[in-house]
Amino acid sequence: MKAAVLNAAQTPLEMADLTIDEPGAGEALVRVVTAGVCHSDLHFIEGTYPGRYPMVLGHEVAGIVEELGPGVTNVAKGDRVIMGFVQPCGHCNYCDSGRPNLCGTPTTARRPDQPALTLGDQPVSQMANVGGFAEQSVMPASGLLKIPDDISLDVAALVGCSVMTGYGAVVNTAKVEPGSSVAVIGAGGVGLNIIQAARLAGASQIIAVDMVEHKLGIAKDFGATDTVNAGETDAIQAVQQLSGGGVDFGFEAIGLKATSEQAYEMAKRGGMAVVVGMVPPMEKIEVSGMIWMQEKTLKGSFYGSARFHTDMPRILELYKQGKLDIDGLVTKRWEFDEINEAFDMLKSGEVARSVLAIGSE
Ligand SMILES: [Zn+2]
Ligand SMILES: [Zn+2]
Repeated sequence: MKAAVLNAAQTPLEMADLTIDEPGAGEALVRVVTAGVCHSDLHFIEGTYPGRYPMVLGHEVAGIVEELGPGVTNVAKGDRVIMGFVQPCGHCNYCDSGRPNLCGTPTTARRPDQPALTLGDQPVSQMANVGGFAEQSVMPASGLLKIPDDISLDVAALVGCSVMTGYGAVVNTAKVEPGSSVAVIGAGGVGLNIIQAARLAGASQIIAVDMVEHKLGIAKDFGATDTVNAGETDAIQAVQQLSGGGVDFGFEAIGLKATSEQAYEMAKRGGMAVVVGMVPPMEKIEVSGMIWMQEKTLKGSFYGSARFHTDMPRILELYKQGKLDIDGLVTKRWEFDEINEAFDMLKSGEVARSVLAIGSE
């Protein structure tokens, strides 16, 4: 089974022929069709997040169920599925209280030191138990969500990370209300989804902030009412000026300490900053001690605070109604072998989202 393997941080991905296990209890074997090229993968390649090497990245993925392990009932052979990078157990406190994105209860008996993939006799880990940059994945079936026949697997893959993350940050985490003012730092795959979800939620002002001019142009197509090029001007001042003193919601969609603090500064008294990007674990986000008097909120958002079985079908319905643009997010399609070029282009900031055609239907 062909897979792109990351052997160490700051090295290119290498194509290798891996051995894959049969699915065990609670697992499914899925044939990967489409995988998105996401900044979260890049964090592991660049080493800003620690990985268990060698590893197979890829967490924005869709495919077709090929085999089921014992006890799996939520999907069937032949189902076309989103391969979610959280696999909720369905019965812990988090799952039961409507926060399945925070579930950490294992749903299979597989141990981290005995992964489903091996290269020779060496174990190979899978990012988020998915490892989608591979022709096949054995993963916990509880993370699989069947999609309707009229949804393409390209669209399904993007719903599996960037769309859910951006839409959910607005609707679930921040609960943006009609008439709100919003600033979004980073107009990439996640940022564009924050922008279009904010438009859908009725935000009256949506200020996109980025350093790449043509991304700001795309941001306007997705619903930004104003744009700020942070490479040319002081972004905090510009947002405060445009919004008349600060926004109700500042979203950070890059994953940096500095931009997280900027999102907080952009929020007005009583406003909220939402950190959506993967800020490195050792970084500290610092805010003014005046937080008490200003009644500001600094909040994290993981996977759009997703309630998967409620939100993903809803997102697909909004897509079908033409209210969420998912096709327009994909600015480039790559062959699987071109994966390193795909990441080079992501680094350069030239694309909103690109996808790898790993298999065919
Ligand atoms: Zn992602
Ligand atoms: Zn759970």
